[in-house]
Amino acid sequence: MDANSILAELGIAKLADGGDMDVASPITGAVIGRVKTHGEKDVDAALARARTAFAQWRDVPAPRRGELVRLLGNRLREKKDALGRLVSLEAGKILQEGLGEVQEMIDICDFAVGLSRQLYGLTIASERPGHRMAESWHPVGVCTVISAFNFPVAVWSWNAALALVCGNAVVWKPSEKTPLTALAVDRIMQDAIAEFGSAPAGLTSLIIGGREAGAQLVADPRSDIVSATGSTAMGRAVGVEVARRFGRSILELGGNNAGIVSKSADPELALRGILFSAVGTAGQRCTSLRRLFVHESVYDDTVARLKTFYAKVPIGNPLEKGTLMGPLIDAQAFSRMQQALQQAKDEGGTVTGGERVEVKGCEQGFYVRPALVEMPAQTPVVLTETFAPILYVLRYSDFDDAIAANNAASHGLSSCAFTNDLREAERFLSAAGSDCGIANVNIGPSGAEIGGAFGGEKETGGGRESGSDAWKGYMRRATNTVNYSSELPLAQGIDFSIG
Ligand code: NAD
Repeated sequence: MDANSILAELGIAKLADGGDMDVASPITGAVIGRVKTHGEKDVDAALARARTAFAQWRDVPAPRRGELVRLLGNRLREKKDALGRLVSLEAGKILQEGLGEVQEMIDICDFAVGLSRQLYGLTIASERPGHRMAESWHPVGVCTVISAFNFPVAVWSWNAALALVCGNAVVWKPSEKTPLTALAVDRIMQDAIAEFGSAPAGLTSLIIGGREAGAQLVADPRSDIVSATGSTAMGRAVGVEVARRFGRSILELGGNNAGIVSKSADPELALRGILFSAVGTAGQRCTSLRRLFVHESVYDDTVARLKTFYAKVPIGNPLEKGTLMGPLIDAQAFSRMQQALQQAKDEGGTVTGGERVEVKGCEQGFYVRPALVEMPAQTPVVLTETFAPILYVLRYSDFDDAIAANNAASHGLSSCAFTNDLREAERFLSAAGSDCGIANVNIGPSGAEIGGAFGGEKETGGGRESGSDAWKGYMRRATNTVNYSSELPLAQGIDFSIG
């Protein structure tokens, strides 16, 4: 299927033709669409419509709201192949990962449908006779979603599926690098809304544009919740702006994720886990493995075997069968990778790989061999997130030192330990262990399932999305006390009677 037939299959051929912004595929560098960008007035109108829609949507019973998300999930199932291909075309992921991303959207829809009947609050024992205390959860308002290029569709669904069943309206500003997949998802959503029949106009909307459009949405108090996924630099600007007006933010920012290979690790399993996490998505996942601490007793063997695998990774057109690594997103990503490798050398590292690879028929794409960099210590470059397939490898002798090294990064997204030693595994997961939002044993740091809450600490921003009780981020909590007696006893035994 070529780009035009994919766009036609997704019903956005016209929308992807004749706008003011070119969209290039990282696979070949060729322009595959021209989309219309939105201006200040469009942002203002989308927020106004979302506010009005919210006022109606919050009164729709939550299980009925879940029905809309069920219809969305059904339509995503129908369009999975075409949308997965478009994700590959626009973001450069291998097709397996493009399809996997759409599957993740379907999974979160299923989760949210169930959740629509489980937005439970607590009942709480009151200290006063004839009183009942409870917690209720209510919708908040408009949830503005800002997303990054590397998960162009799944991040919206993590937020939107939950926000909608929780009774909010949703405005989405995707990455300026991936507007076509956003248009396709918006079309699928509008079709689901039409089938649903009674959703208010403006319940979900899409703003195509760059950071100015994002900044306008973020500064506007009608964006009650801002869920922003992207770099830490972006989150620093967004977090401050939202805090200034006491809005609510869910920040999903960068990661500098580490893994530990202990002396007791299963070597085959560790190698497979490392390879998928460090090389998958060409190192462009927020959870990609970037730092590896290997016990000195297995260091030489692990590094030698990794080098052999790295030399053999099939790099090429991500839509072709057998390819495991596609291109970097653009020229800037390539030059940042080269700068980081140069800095690593200057800081005492030994680099294997990292060079540009020419792929036949895709000469304008930025394909690289993944880089393995042996470092003497955690120098500044190791402690910086470079969004590229660079794995820094370091030696350790004491497991507690490896945990401390894991925690030395300013980010706190994901982490893992490969070990068959129960004490090490439990120590890694304990309060004194990894300080990340995700801590795994015997699997790599990437490839999370939707059932768990997703997010990280420190400069990763502290937000949580997706499963577990992340839905609470999209609702406001009210504590209710009801007095069904004819007395008015005060809490803490306070006597306030006159005379
Ligand atoms: P980016 O920060 O360049 O852009 C992300 C989004 O933010 C885009 O839509 C952009 O237009 C918008 N934006 C930028 N500045 C803004 C501002 N001041 N106000 C409002 N919006 C603004 O990130 P990217 O290059 O697209 O993605 C890569 C980064 O995202 C990496 O750091 C990666 O780790 C991170 N990421 C994190 C997660 C997570 O869940 N933690 C997931 C995916 C990506």
